[in-house]
Amino acid sequence: MSLSQATVQPILPGSTIGVLGSGQLGRMFAIAARELGYRIITYSPDNDTPTGHIADEEFSCAYDNLEKIREFARKVHVVTFEFENVPSDTTKTVAEIVPVRPAGQVLHVTQHRLREKIFLQENGFPVTPFRRINSLEDLEKAAKELGIPAVLKTASFGYDGKGQVKITAFEKCKAAFENLGGQEGIYEAFVDFEKELSVVAARTLSGETSAFPVFENAHANHILDVTFAPANIDPKLANEACKLAAGILEKLNVVGLLTVEMFLTKSGKLLVNELAPRTHNSGHLTIDACVTSQFEQQLRAVCGLPLGSTELRQPAAMANLLGHLWKDGEPNWAAALSDPLVKLHLYGKKEARMGRKMGHLTATGKTTAEAVERVVQARERLLRSL
Ligand code: AMP
Repeated sequence: MSLSQATVQPILPGSTIGVLGSGQLGRMFAIAARELGYRIITYSPDNDTPTGHIADEEFSCAYDNLEKIREFARKVHVVTFEFENVPSDTTKTVAEIVPVRPAGQVLHVTQHRLREKIFLQENGFPVTPFRRINSLEDLEKAAKELGIPAVLKTASFGYDGKGQVKITAFEKCKAAFENLGGQEGIYEAFVDFEKELSVVAARTLSGETSAFPVFENAHANHILDVTFAPANIDPKLANEACKLAAGILEKLNVVGLLTVEMFLTKSGKLLVNELAPRTHNSGHLTIDACVTSQFEQQLRAVCGLPLGSTELRQPAAMANLLGHLWKDGEPNWAAALSDPLVKLHLYGKKEARMGRKMGHLTATGKTTAEAVERVVQARERLLRSL
């Protein structure tokens, strides 16, 4: 198939998919794509990367090196993402050569917390009250209007709690403002939530949407710790969460995958916290527990193929493996895998820094409680001496 045909025809096995970003999400995407007979080229400033290990080719160049971006785009049939903080000029340049899915406009909205919250609010999706912060006066005004506690976040480049502080007293505004380091901020009323949920959903070129079952997430130090599915919520609420996600994908005209992180408030209301125009850490359990993984679904959506079933075959749980597990040397893999229902996924990262996502474990069980217990116990066994 010629490259120009790719815009209208399904992009079939044997074609080459370009991935912007080179981390673990790209790696698991590349594994899924290879299973279906596609080739992969990854592009990021790094080399010897988790995605690069699986890809056919790795570009190690800056995102704003538009000459290299053109060279990359000419070698692939479609470009997708595993990392959303790519400059707009980069996606525009790619889009002049091959389709970018989801489109650059989706990235533009979702890579900036203020733009994202304004988009959600203007389109009637529920969010916690927020204000734009460019000065200490803005911050003090927001604190008076929306109250305390609150969370102050940088508008750009924030993830896993980076660039955010909780404000617990009016006197702490000044220090919190200084923490922004001159960047634009967003002040969000603190949500005293009951649960954190996420919905990973796909949308095709013809506008069909399909969501995975709702995931329930527990964080530790602002980083996802454990996810399980199905979420322990009323099925009606789960349905509402999936509809909410589908509505967002439609409004944003997403072709590909989008993850909607939500809070369930103590009064039973859903509020959207954050959007990610890609696969998500909370969706990793789909590899071992669903008919179609989130990575295969992303591939199908961006290639114009029919979507796969999102059915969860069994209750399942995922536990992240962060760098600290390596503090006393190599974790005890055999001990973790002594439970035959536990599956190990490692991302091939050489250096185990604190808080760095190195891999994950998934377990299935007859109930979510059993799956969670299995996966958490397996993770604890990693620290048993070898
Ligand atoms: P984020 O980077 O926005 O996903 O935030 C990381 C984590 O911080 C979330 O998963 C929540 O646990 C917590 N968090 C973020 N925003 C709020 C908020 N407005 N109220 C309460 N907790 C929050």
